[in-house]
Amino acid sequence: MARSDPGMILVAGGAGFIGSHLVARLLDEGNEVICLDNLQTARPSNLKLLEGRPGFTFVEGDITLPLPDAVTRHADRITRIYNLACAASPPQYQVDPEHTMLTNVVGTHHLLRLAERAGARFLLTSTSEVYGDPEVHPQVEGYRGWVSCTGPRACYDEGKRAAEALTFDYARAGRAQVRVARIFNTYGPHMHPDDGRVVSNLICQALSGRDITIYGDGSQTRSFCYVSDMVDALIRLMEWRSDALEPVNLGNPNELTVGELAEQVVALSGARTPLVHRPLPQDDPRRRRPDISRAQAELGWRPTVDLAEGLATTYAWFAQELAEERVPAEA
Ligand code: UDP
Repeated sequence: MARSDPGMILVAGGAGFIGSHLVARLLDEGNEVICLDNLQTARPSNLKLLEGRPGFTFVEGDITLPLPDAVTRHADRITRIYNLACAASPPQYQVDPEHTMLTNVVGTHHLLRLAERAGARFLLTSTSEVYGDPEVHPQVEGYRGWVSCTGPRACYDEGKRAAEALTFDYARAGRAQVRVARIFNTYGPHMHPDDGRVVSNLICQALSGRDITIYGDGSQTRSFCYVSDMVDALIRLMEWRSDALEPVNLGNPNELTVGELAEQVVALSGARTPLVHRPLPQDDPRRRRPDISRAQAELGWRPTVDLAEGLATTYAWFAQELAEERVPAEA
């Protein structure tokens, strides 16, 4: 790569929910971006918003397979690799658990090998799921988690844990510069109406007048981060000067119960949509809240969009999407 060449950024999973926002932001900043995505859970409309933008290239491919030539031929220009390629919603990643595990382990390996060959910095998006059903609250990065390696979430949780191990092994061996984000629950526009996660489910149910589904008694907690805050954090982490072999929690520490979230969505809709209870999925974590001290101290980052504002924006976006595209909203 010539010295004046700013290089290219590869975003695996760039047509997905967080990935599409990240790609848009990187393009806004004048970067050349290759988006590699298998379109497993991506919305075609996310891709349409990116196609045709200067600097954007889309390559369809699955990272469990050897990386396409359309990506590897740019190895001498790729300086940054973001790995966001994996279904992240429990019902979605459990559809084909073998593929989920391989995406995290084999897919991350393929991208790490490319990072080594390209001399590119690699960022893994790991997950709060590495903490499992946590006994330590809020979750700090040093907590090693309480994860079932045999349950239905293991393909994702253990897949991400293995991906972290592999990523840090590459760094320890001096084979790649790496960064590892542990992403907590994130929401916003560009989620798929059929995604199955709680924010998209509740909003789409409220918009279409269907029952609002609360799994279990609704007392389990989550802490929801708006997507623009998450993208900001990911870019800061990628550009973090430190090569410390440390994961960084990224999320919004504002914790609430699923029942409280449902009340907020119902209030937004202004309708009297009935709340119904469904069985709590196996291994569903009871409590989750990130300790973001490390991100605050090291990246100078903290979330800026509060839940009321983010939910209102997301609600309005889904209302338009469902009206315009007549996407069947399914929970
Ligand atoms: N949940 C719910 N109703 C739904 C979807 C999810 O009550 O329609 C619950 C789910 O059981 C969990 C929480 O909401 O306790 C967050 O679920 P999600 O699938 O969004 O992500 P998770 O944090 O479990 O990965």
